[in-house]
Amino acid sequence: MTSTAKPAIDLLIAAPRGFCAGVDRAIRIVELAIEKYGAPVYVRHEIVHNRFVVDTLKAQGAVFVDELDEVPDGVPVVFSAHGVPKVVPAKAQERGLSYLDATCPLVSKVHRQAERLVAAGRHILFVGHEGHPEVIGTFGQVPEGSITLIETVEDAEALTPADAENLAFLTQTTLSVDDTAAVLEVLTRRFPGIVAPKADDICYATSNRQAAVKAIASSVDLVLVIGAPNSSNSLRLVEVAKREGTNSRLIQRAADLDFAWLDGVRSLGITAGASAPEVLVREVVEAIAARFDVTEREVETTREDIAFKLPRGLEEAA
Ligand code: SF4
Repeated sequence: MTSTAKPAIDLLIAAPRGFCAGVDRAIRIVELAIEKYGAPVYVRHEIVHNRFVVDTLKAQGAVFVDELDEVPDGVPVVFSAHGVPKVVPAKAQERGLSYLDATCPLVSKVHRQAERLVAAGRHILFVGHEGHPEVIGTFGQVPEGSITLIETVEDAEALTPADAENLAFLTQTTLSVDDTAAVLEVLTRRFPGIVAPKADDICYATSNRQAAVKAIASSVDLVLVIGAPNSSNSLRLVEVAKREGTNSRLIQRAADLDFAWLDGVRSLGITAGASAPEVLVREVVEAIAARFDVTEREVETTREDIAFKLPRGLEEAA
């Protein structure tokens, strides 16, 4: 008689993981805008970096576009959680479009800091990743030439600012806590007078998810991170696990899972980036449970209870 026993695998599921308060709010804004105005509601850029979320909203009546020019007159438009350069709402206003800004309040806070620093005569060194929408949005808050991107420790070492006495730094919200500390160490050593924010701007959700994956990574053979390849905070989770000496793979959902990766794996860590919904985590766990005898344990490093207010008009519609 052939044995049908499935191999055993321990799943350590990191907490916190998945949706943060900014993503939750951005998705809710699109849903409520559809309820209030009726479909279609246009959304400039992916509201958050997750295809499943985008497809779900498309099915409800959201239309995703790259630029404002693609939004027809008289139709409401939502700006994504990553924030937009000032010129975007200005153009929307010029065209008489009603718009809803789903920029995460923690990104807006960085925008306001950038404005204040430039008004105070400081040149900003912005630690972030070139081309990320959040970086484009923040650069678009201040005049060209008043902010310089620093991506790496090497950039920080090579920098030759015009006025080294008048610098300030800000950071993208979804960076690696450890890499950023190394860049900031160089900046503060080279430019002792640099103005620093009270704390760096890496947000609570990014820091908490990195700490949570760090806590499980060394106890498992492999870490799966559920998230999109263009999601900065998800990519950072893969890096954090690898830095703990554990192999890690980024997958968007269960269909991306290659079971050859699980050969010889007895314990598996699972987490999800801030734009990945819990339903995708459950989908992965179920796919694994179909082939393995799963023992599941959640490892919680901190509890989050942050929620951001919705824009006023939409709150009334909720
Ligand atoms: Fe806001 Fe942080 Fe979430 Fe980005 S990852 S939307 S900054 S809470």
